[in-house]
Amino acid sequence: MSNIAHNIAQIQRQISAAAQRCGRLPEEVTLLAVSKTKPVSALEEAIAAGQRAFGENYVQEGVEKIQHFREAGISGLTWHFIGPLQSNKSRLVAEHFDWCHTVDRLRIATRLSEQRPAGMAPLNVLIQINISDEQSKSGIAPEDLDALAAQVVELPGLCLRGLMAIPAPESDWQRQFAVASQMAVAFTRLKSRYPGVDTLSLGMTDDMDAAIAAGSTMVRIGTAIFGARNTPPRL
Ligand SMILES: *Cc1c(COP(=O)(O)O)cnc(C)c1O
Repeated sequence: MSNIAHNIAQIQRQISAAAQRCGRLPEEVTLLAVSKTKPVSALEEAIAAGQRAFGENYVQEGVEKIQHFREAGISGLTWHFIGPLQSNKSRLVAEHFDWCHTVDRLRIATRLSEQRPAGMAPLNVLIQINISDEQSKSGIAPEDLDALAAQVVELPGLCLRGLMAIPAPESDWQRQFAVASQMAVAFTRLKSRYPGVDTLSLGMTDDMDAAIAAGSTMVRIGTAIFGARNTPPRL
C-alpha cells in the first residue's frame, strides 16, 4: 500500500470514529482531499485508493489537473475550488470545477452564474463565512448571510449547497468545537430555509475531530493525506 493510500485509510478511520463518538453516521462526512501544490502522480495514488473528491486552491493549477484527468479518460472525479477567488479568474472556475467553496460576494456569484456553460450542471457553491472575524481572511460576516443567500439562490447557473469556513488556527479542542458550533447553527438555519442546502465544509487536518463533532459534512484534508506542502506554484 502506498503512503497516500495508507493515509487515506487512516483518515477515513478517524472520520468514522469521530462521527460515531457523537452518534453520527460516517457516511454523513465526505473526505475532500486537498491536493494543492501536489503533482498529478500524488492524485493518481489517491484515486487508486478510491478517493474521488479533490480540493484545489490555485485556479490555473486546478484546471491543469482537471484537464489532465479528463484527457486520461478518468471520470467520476469531483473538483472543488477552495481558494480565494478573484473576479478575473471566475470564468475558469465556472467552466471547469464542480464546486466553489469561497463565494463571499454577490458580484463573484453573479459572474460564476453567468459564466457557467449552458451544457453543464449548475455550479455547486458554498458561502464562505468569516467565523473568527480575522481581518486577513475572506468570507462574509455571519450577520450578512441571510441577504447574500437570498440573492445566490436566485442565480440560475448556481446551486447553493451550504457554508464553508476556515477558522483561525486553535490547538484547544473545546475552542475548536465552540467556533465550529457557531458555523453549525448558521448551517442548520440555512438548511431549514433552503431544502437544497446539505453541505457544511469545515475541518482541516488539525481540527477535523471537533468540526465533525459540531456537524461538519465535509472535511478538507491536505497535510494528513499528502504530507507537508511544497511551496505554491507561481501561476
Ligand atoms: C490548504 C487548505 C486545506 C488543507 O489544510 P491541511 O491543514 O493541510 O489539511 C483545507 N482548506 C483550505 C481552504 C485550504 O486552503
